[in-house]
Amino acid sequence: MNTDLREIKNRLNIVDVLGEYLRLEKAGANYRALCPFHNEKSPSFMVSEEKQMWHCFGCGKGGDIFSFVMEIEGLEFREALKILAEKAGVTLASYNPQKAEQKNRTLEILELATKFYEVQLWKGAGKTKIMDYLKDRGLNDETIKIFRLGYAPNGWRNVLSFLLERGFSIGEIERTGLLVKKEAAQISNSLRRGGLISNQCQNLNDQYTEYKKSNTNYYDRFRDRIIFPICDYSGKVLGYSARVAPGGDESQAKYVNSPETEVYHKSKILYGIDKAKGEIKQKDFALLVEGNMDVIASYQAGIKNVVAVSGTALTSDQLDILKRYTKNLKMLFDMDAAGEAATRKSIKLCLEKNISAQIVILSIGKDAADAAKNDPQKLLAAVAQAKSAMEYLFQKTFSLYDKNKVEDKKKISQSLLEIVESMSDAVEKSHWVKKLAAELDVAESALTDELKKVKLTNRISANEKNQAGEVARINNRQKIDILLEELAGLMLVSENIWEDILKKNEYQSYFSRDSLLDLMLKRGREFDFNFDKFSGAIDRETRSLAEKLFFRKKFRLGLNNSLEETPADDFQKELISILDGLKEEFKKIKLKQIAKDLKLAEERKDKDAVKFLQGELRKILS
Ligand SMILES: [Zn+2]
Repeated sequence: MNTDLREIKNRLNIVDVLGEYLRLEKAGANYRALCPFHNEKSPSFMVSEEKQMWHCFGCGKGGDIFSFVMEIEGLEFREALKILAEKAGVTLASYNPQKAEQKNRTLEILELATKFYEVQLWKGAGKTKIMDYLKDRGLNDETIKIFRLGYAPNGWRNVLSFLLERGFSIGEIERTGLLVKKEAAQISNSLRRGGLISNQCQNLNDQYTEYKKSNTNYYDRFRDRIIFPICDYSGKVLGYSARVAPGGDESQAKYVNSPETEVYHKSKILYGIDKAKGEIKQKDFALLVEGNMDVIASYQAGIKNVVAVSGTALTSDQLDILKRYTKNLKMLFDMDAAGEAATRKSIKLCLEKNISAQIVILSIGKDAADAAKNDPQKLLAAVAQAKSAMEYLFQKTFSLYDKNKVEDKKKISQSLLEIVESMSDAVEKSHWVKKLAAELDVAESALTDELKKVKLTNRISANEKNQAGEVARINNRQKIDILLEELAGLMLVSENIWEDILKKNEYQSYFSRDSLLDLMLKRGREFDFNFDKFSGAIDRETRSLAEKLFFRKKFRLGLNNSLEETPADDFQKELISILDGLKEEFKKIKLKQIAKDLKLAEERKDKDAVKFLQGELRKILS
């Protein structure tokens, strides 16, 4: 084994090996990079070509190529050895640990299956119908080959039979996520049920008989779908994303992804990273788009440093992978409500991880794939003109409110300070606080106070999640919840009060704690503040709650169905009593909260926070 080790080290250069994972910059005789093992913004990770060693001055980790691959891939020594031996072209004398062997079998099966799907696309059942569709989406042959797109034909056992014939066991194939296990009785039922509403009954029954003959409970997960292989950084297929075929059963999910397996962990995967990593290092930024098609189309349009998250929101693990190659990220998400929410969350995550985020705004097309197909030059220009994420958020937030109104100033600052708070860079933080103060025309100190509050709330809410104090909090809330329900009921009963409540700015933050009230405030005008119109347009669960509150309030106020006879005075009296109650309850809660925060701040010897909280306390008590 020692000779194997020496041989591998002789054949591989540490700069090449680490260069596959990291963006290395020459620094004198050495190379340096951002450390992949701890969070940092200036590089303290050094690689010595002369000594063939690496060391991080930030977290103290270091070693040779073996320890690096073990650390970054999360492998045992023997598995790392296997990988590097393969890379070096060295045959290991004694090597056969069962676990690594099993993982290799899984990867081998996935590689074979990918080839099977490719053949089905180029020469088999997908030759015309799927190819036509892909061409119609603007993809050319070369791109289809590079991304290894394929087609899973219709039928229950195509890939299963193919793999069984090549000597793999059901157990081995199941571990890849390519199969679904189902009880025979269930299949029989679903096929029969299908038969009742479909004229393909006979066909399905035939398929079922054939299926039963095979004497197994497994069938292909992907049937009549376009296959997008999902690879690791080195191009090994780990799983698939499968799109329903054109003209296929559109009632099924549009995309079906591989389940979590021993090799496929969706939160740690970036679609396209194997093709993009070189270009990401070179251009020193990555373009993050929403879906597989966006990646492929952008790549074909000439933006090769492009990746997508696959079936998840952007995760911290995915950013760790990107950080190996660059600390600059440009995001291009769909500009619908879901896309905007995703953008905001992703920006926050980037700031926490010290990754500089920019936003690409498309003036054409609904997504990257669309834009790449219709006008690649405009897409390139849009990516080049990406604007800083904070500037984007500033513009977006200011456009939603009127910065001359006091209440809106509060909303703008709350929304933006929440983001500023997550910045890990103090200089940047202070820059944006200054800018916000200037734009809102308020004193900077007011915002710094507000920022402390946000910080404290975040810290405490993170703390609370781990504590059993949840029950006490729910008890505290009960009275308020009852009052908020009473208020919602009153608004539902009286259109005038519903409309009036919109003007009561000083209460808005109380109201937003209740989701029904929040909805009523946001959409009341749309339904003329009318209970019938409103309840006819909302989801069933919310409607049944609204109905309950409506009828209960009517009963309490002694109303029958004709509301006209009720004197408006009664409503006003009721309203005042509810609002007074709310004010009192919120004061109590706030006092409790401050006392609790104060205790925490004192325990942590956080002098600034203590001083700030004491001030808050005085304000409430005076
Ligand atoms: Zn480090």
